[in-house]
Amino acid sequence: MGKKKRGTMKVIKFGGSSVSDSSKIKAVVEIILSSRENRFVVLSAMKGITNTLIASARAAEAGDRSYKEQYEEVETRTYGALKELVREGTLYETTKETLQSMLEEYHDILHGVELIRECSLRSLDLIMSFGERLNCTIVSAYMNDAGHKAEYIDAREIIRTDSSFGKGSVDFPRTYELIRERVRNVNGVGIITGFIASSAQGFTTTLGRNGSDYTASIIAAGVEADVCEIWTDVDGVLTADPRVVPGAKVIDQLSIEEAMELSFFGAEVIHPSTLIPTVEKEIPVIIRNTMNLSAPGTVISGMKPKRTAPITGIASIDEVALINVEGGGMIGMPGVASRIFTSLAEEDVNVIMISQASSEHSICIVCRQSEAERAKSRLEKDLADVIASKRIQKIGVQIDLELVAVIGDNMKGQVGLSGRLFSALGDSQVNILAIAQGSTEKNISLVIEKKQRETALNAIHRTFLES
Ligand code: ASP
Repeated sequence: MGKKKRGTMKVIKFGGSSVSDSSKIKAVVEIILSSRENRFVVLSAMKGITNTLIASARAAEAGDRSYKEQYEEVETRTYGALKELVREGTLYETTKETLQSMLEEYHDILHGVELIRECSLRSLDLIMSFGERLNCTIVSAYMNDAGHKAEYIDAREIIRTDSSFGKGSVDFPRTYELIRERVRNVNGVGIITGFIASSAQGFTTTLGRNGSDYTASIIAAGVEADVCEIWTDVDGVLTADPRVVPGAKVIDQLSIEEAMELSFFGAEVIHPSTLIPTVEKEIPVIIRNTMNLSAPGTVISGMKPKRTAPITGIASIDEVALINVEGGGMIGMPGVASRIFTSLAEEDVNVIMISQASSEHSICIVCRQSEAERAKSRLEKDLADVIASKRIQKIGVQIDLELVAVIGDNMKGQVGLSGRLFSALGDSQVNILAIAQGSTEKNISLVIEKKQRETALNAIHRTFLES
């Protein structure tokens, strides 16, 4: 790409809430134009549009004609934004024609779905693709109308996935080739549709809900950008959920491992897989707030941030359940754990945490509450022989729990950290049901009752992050 000669190159991404209407789009375009470094822009659909597209598809599939109302909502918002953003004239007319033909196609597809009463994941991906396509068409027209060169880029041309509709798996070598070819001659700022891609057979696919961050990361890696900025509606990644912990603060720098851990455990800012392409190419990702330009945001990079606090942040997952497999007969008996995990994997139950005491008397597994009953029945079925021989006495499920994860690179080697953590919780009368710490020592996870969540998170935050 010869990026060194061209100076810093940024890929910047704006989510649905940043482009919910014409006034927000104007603010976003100001951000885009504020620096010549902003060369590629990835956009989501306008806020709520993807949900409306899905609802229309589901209604049409059920033969429910209310899909026409949802269609009209998409149409009204599309033309409304165009009218408010692009002045009447040739560009307005040609853009309107482009939007109209997209809307007609969307309408025809819905009608087809209604007739055959079936909406496959493949059809749904195609229907969902209109959100990003309509929005990027409008934004690029608006920029051109205002005298700033911008080119619409349909990500289906440059991101190749397999045929797993609903959440395609990216073919990176081919994608990077396509990106490099396509971006060579972009006229002005490239306005790229987030979320959507295509299969080798040319079918529209998507990268999974909220997949536009991932698009930005893939594009940044493909063009070998210097920075990938994800603009959202919060000041950055926070030390805890501010709705529960009023003292939560923005973390200015995160290592990749910390960011992955925090997002895995429910910090909503960024999805873990989003970071993979940028990590591989050592491109820093910055989380910024569209509504607060003065906030510097959170930088996620390969650098190990220097900080004094013993922990970096606290994340939590609610609605989890604890499955306890208990029995004296498991002691010293190899193979039981492997049978348990094989069964759960076959049942498609996602294991979030495991802990086994060295007495081997019980193994406890944390999974989503919604998967717990299914997990229990499957285990009872698959382990029937061990249960009949009384080597396992009981498979119990406890629900209404919360998994709390304390995360930080600094935690490694800190003698006494767990002691302080458990004392803080004990002093606040929080009862701990299970604990796990990986040998990387960058994460201590614990399970508590959901009703003690607020007390627990605030106690930990006060102890480690507010002094
Ligand atoms: N519009 C898509 C969604 O709502 C993708 C995104 O916004 O990231 O899931």
